[in-house]
Amino acid sequence: ERRERLARYSGPGSTSDGHPVALLLNVGGGPAEAGDSEGVGLFRTEFLFLDREQAPSVAEQRTAYGEVFAAFPGRPVVIRTLDAGADKPVPFANADDEPNPALGVRGQRIARRHPELLAAQLEAIALAAGDHDAEVKVMAPMIATPAEAADFAARVRAHGLAAGVMIEVPAAAIRAEAILAEVDFVSIGTNDLAQYTFAADRMLGELGDLLDSWQPALLDLVASVAEAGRRAGKPVGICGEAAADPGLAPVFAGLGVTSLSMSAPAVPEVRAALRERTFDECTAVAKAVRAAADATEARRAATS
Ligand code: PEP
Ligand code: MG
Repeated sequence: ERRERLARYSGPGSTSDGHPVALLLNVGGGPAEAGDSEGVGLFRTEFLFLDREQAPSVAEQRTAYGEVFAAFPGRPVVIRTLDAGADKPVPFANADDEPNPALGVRGQRIARRHPELLAAQLEAIALAAGDHDAEVKVMAPMIATPAEAADFAARVRAHGLAAGVMIEVPAAAIRAEAILAEVDFVSIGTNDLAQYTFAADRMLGELGDLLDSWQPALLDLVASVAEAGRRAGKPVGICGEAAADPGLAPVFAGLGVTSLSMSAPAVPEVRAALRERTFDECTAVAKAVRAAADATEARRAATS
């Protein structure tokens, strides 16, 4: 029965009355399968940097990124620059003596110390983009301020590519309007945004209730970033685990989120959840969920 329901839907993500919400893939290294996805919302590049003594050459990076770009001709591929640190430590990029690596020199902050790593990666991305027909866009992890976003965007645009940043630090969510003014798009990383908003280590299963994607404080931040995106007329995606939750898909659509990026197996359920509601219903669900006092009540509000 479930399979029959899912098989009824195919093609681009949208509500039943045609409000589009792009369904994109989160990918890592290796051969990517485009399937019937609309593109890639998060291409994590850490796979190329982990477990090695020094950075991969520009030529090696160009080849590896090109393998993914080649699988999505004519479709958008958002490639994220190196997010080394904390749960993804890279010996030549991160210091090993930080007392609190999740709050340390990680993600885009590495460019303060090692600008050559970012420069080489952007060069490789631009070369690989030139080799293939994918619509390549570049996104920075762990941006905290509009100035960081502006600096990153300038470096990316120097290569003729579109620039975006992840919103995964509460400061960036709070100042989303000013950040959106500097970039072409943003994507909310709910995994880290939950971790930093609730001061709860994302690796600790014991704190799972705090890291719950239905927590009202997290949804408040998503709502205000989406609202800033609407005012700016720029795309606001979600690429954390929350984007794979079919129960949240209508909520995010109702809040004005423009794309959801997830692992391939999650796409059919999310597509069906969107296709079974009108946009007005999504707006109403979002409103009901935002009125909830806690995650349990929020879930209940979405199903009643
Ligand atoms: C996130 O933080 O939500 C995210 C998508 O990035 P990562 O899980 O790679 O930190
Ligand atoms: Mg993250």
